[in-house]
Amino acid sequence: MPGPYDIRLLSLVVPCYNESESIANFFNCVIPILESIDRIRFEIVMVNDGSSDDTLEQLLEHARRDERVRVVDLTRNFGKEAALTAGLDEAMGDAIIPIDVDLQDPPALIPELVARWREGAEVVLAQRSRRACDTWLKRITAAAYYRIHNRLSDLKLPVNVGDFRLMDRVVINALKQLPERHRFMKGLFAWVGYKTAIVRYEREPRSAGRSKFSGWRLWNLALEGITSFSTLPLRSWTYIGLLIAFSAFCYGTFIVVRTLMLGVDVPGYASLLSIVLFLGGIQLIGLGVVGEYIGRIYDEAKGRPIYLVRRRYHEPRQDRLIAGGRRVIRLERGQAANHR
Ligand code: UDP
Ligand code: MG
Repeated sequence: MPGPYDIRLLSLVVPCYNESESIANFFNCVIPILESIDRIRFEIVMVNDGSSDDTLEQLLEHARRDERVRVVDLTRNFGKEAALTAGLDEAMGDAIIPIDVDLQDPPALIPELVARWREGAEVVLAQRSRRACDTWLKRITAAAYYRIHNRLSDLKLPVNVGDFRLMDRVVINALKQLPERHRFMKGLFAWVGYKTAIVRYEREPRSAGRSKFSGWRLWNLALEGITSFSTLPLRSWTYIGLLIAFSAFCYGTFIVVRTLMLGVDVPGYASLLSIVLFLGGIQLIGLGVVGEYIGRIYDEAKGRPIYLVRRRYHEPRQDRLIAGGRRVIRLERGQAANHR
């Protein structure tokens, strides 16, 4: 018979950016599922990532009705990775699941994740078995990206695994020791290791609203992933340079010998120009790669915080008394209590 100490806290961490159309749907779907899992208490940490629509108001409305919902309001839009970091820092659960608010990560999978966690896995990955809802372009680029990343980097990313996964408290504590500002969460999650189990699922189309990740944002995320976990693009320039210098030396010798034997040969303007332009281009690409890394070193060196919290809302029920030291403070309904 399980005792009261077996009841453990599960945290869902949900970054939200302009998601007013998805929020009601999300709670309606997720809460019954969480309630159906036995021997689990849960909290839902909603992170408002500087939304410009009424996302925050809606979140507060839900938090007011349900004290298991907490809201963390960031001061502006910091991006999904930062919002997720904020949520992971706030969450107090024994196990934590980051999940998107658009229901693309099926909440129906949560009981299975929890079951695998109880069997002893410290990380339970949810792997997409099919990406039917994505466009073919996204599918192809995603597949190419995983290949390139795993080729270039010592750290192997599990293929088709997003942020949706369950992590034990020990994993979260390990993650908190990674101080970098450029947070490629998938990579950081993989970097910490731990005992991992995999559960497969099919990714659904978005329930409402539009994806926030345009091609350009995805490209930048891809660059982030590679530069965060591999220095090969940087180091490869030594070899590209050596190859070009060696070819140039051979060609130079050939020209000198030919000139000595056959005399001066003036024409060659076109080939000269194309070689100069080509090498100029190669140099600029090399410089650009170096620049990508220096820019990241610069950002890390500034040591700015990853996100800033404007306010933490935890709306307790009217009848709930919170003991603070010897005083007992009574909180009125609707009055926002700053959690910390
Ligand atoms: N998101 C965020 N900040 C951003 C962009 C996105 O918090 O700057 C959240 C968004 O609200 C959603 C999740 O990240 O809960 C995934 O975003 P989206 O569905 O747009 O990405 P996709 O599923 O297309 O990769
Ligand atoms: Mg989505």
